[in-house]
Amino acid sequence: MEEAQKQVWVFGDYRNYFQNRVTLQLIARARELAAAMDGQVCVLLFGHELQDWIDEYVAHGADTVLVIDHPSLKVYQSETYTGLLVDLARQHRPEIILVGATSFGRELAARSAKRLNTGLTADCVDLRIDEQGLLVQTAPGFGGNLLAEIVIPRHRPQMATVRPGTFQELPHDYLRAARVERLDLPPNLPPERVRLVKSERLPPREQALENAEVVVCGGRGMGSKKKFRNLHELARLLDGQVGATRPVVYAHWAEDGALVGQAGRQIKPQVLFSFGISGAIQHTAGISGNPFLVAVNKNPNAVMMQMADVGLVADANQVCLALIRELKNRLRT
Ligand SMILES: Cc1cc2nc3c(=O)[nH]c(=O)nc-3n(C[C@H](O)[C@H](O)[C@H](O)COP(=O)(O)OP(=O)(O)OC[C@H]3O[C@@H](n4cnc5c(N)ncnc54)[C@H](O)[C@@H]3O)c2cc1C
Repeated sequence: MEEAQKQVWVFGDYRNYFQNRVTLQLIARARELAAAMDGQVCVLLFGHELQDWIDEYVAHGADTVLVIDHPSLKVYQSETYTGLLVDLARQHRPEIILVGATSFGRELAARSAKRLNTGLTADCVDLRIDEQGLLVQTAPGFGGNLLAEIVIPRHRPQMATVRPGTFQELPHDYLRAARVERLDLPPNLPPERVRLVKSERLPPREQALENAEVVVCGGRGMGSKKKFRNLHELARLLDGQVGATRPVVYAHWAEDGALVGQAGRQIKPQVLFSFGISGAIQHTAGISGNPFLVAVNKNPNAVMMQMADVGLVADANQVCLALIRELKNRLRT
C-alpha cells in the first residue's frame, strides 16, 4: 500500500450482498473523499475464499484490497474482526474508515472506534471533505430533529457508519486493476468469547422501494386508509413503489416496510411524488439522489412544497385520483 498517500478505508461487508450493496456504495463515496485529499481507497476484506469479493471491490473502485483469508474467518465474528481491523488501522493509520450500518457493521465500528480512541458518527446521510481536509459527517442528531455536521478534528481515523442506500455505487468496471495485499492471520488472536451454534439465512428482504425509479409517497394529509390505497393504484400505473411517513405507518394505512426516512428505508428514485407530507427532516433524511419532486399539499408553506420542483396546492387525494384517471385514459388511447 502507498503509505505516503492518505487512505480512506471501507470495511468489506459482503454477508448480505444480494440484499444490500452498501460496501459498493461506500467505495463510490470513498473515491470522492479520497480524490479531495489526494488519497486512495482501500477495502478491508476478512473471511474465507474471497476471490469473488476481491474482484467485485476492485471493479467498483478500490485502489487496494487488504485481504486476510483464513478458514477461521469464514463466519463474521465481532471480536476477531474488531481485533483485525484495529491492528491494521494502528499499523497503516488511515485517515477515514467507513463501515456499512448493517447489524454487524454497527457493532464492529463502535467497538473499533472505542479501541482506537477515536470518534464515530453513526448513520451518516452525507459525507464530504471540508477546506481543512476534515471529514464532515452529516447525521440526524438530537432525536432526529435536525441534521448535525460532525467533524473529528484531532483523533484518527475519522470513523462513520452509513446505511445501505445512502450513496450510489459506481458501474462495474471489469478492466479496473488494483493492488491486492494478502496478509497472514495474526498468530495470537484472542479466542472468541461468543461461540456460533447455528446460523440460518433469513429470507431476502424486499428491496423494491429502495431501488424504485418512481416512488409515490403518502403522508397524513391523504386523510384515511381508504384514500391512501389510491396511491397504490397510482404507483402501479407509474410502475413505481409506495412509500409512507411515520404517522401513516403508525395508523396502519401502510405497512412498516413502506416507511421512508431516518427510521425506515432510504430511497433514491428519479421521480418522487409526495402527497400530503409536511417534509419533516426525519422523513426527508430518507430521500437521496436529488429526485424530481412533485409535492401536493394544502399548505403552500410546507417544507415539502418548498423543496418541490412542482408544487400543487390542492387536496392530495383529489390530485391522486385525477392522475389515475388521466393515466388510465392515456393507456386506453
Ligand atoms: C426519532 C424520530 C424518528 C423519526 N423517523 C421518521 C421516519 O423515518 N420517517 C418519517 O416519515 N417520519 C419520522 N419521524 C416523524 C417525523 O418527525 C414527522 O412527524 C412525520 O414525518 C410527519 O409525517 P406527515 O408529513 O405524514 O404528517 P404531518 O407532519 O402531520 O403532515 C401532514 C401534511 O399534510 C398536509 N395536508 C393535510 N391535509 C391535506 C390534504 N387534504 N391534502 C393535501 N395535504 C394535506 C398538511 O398541510 C401537512 O403538511 C420521526 C420522528 C422522530 C422523533
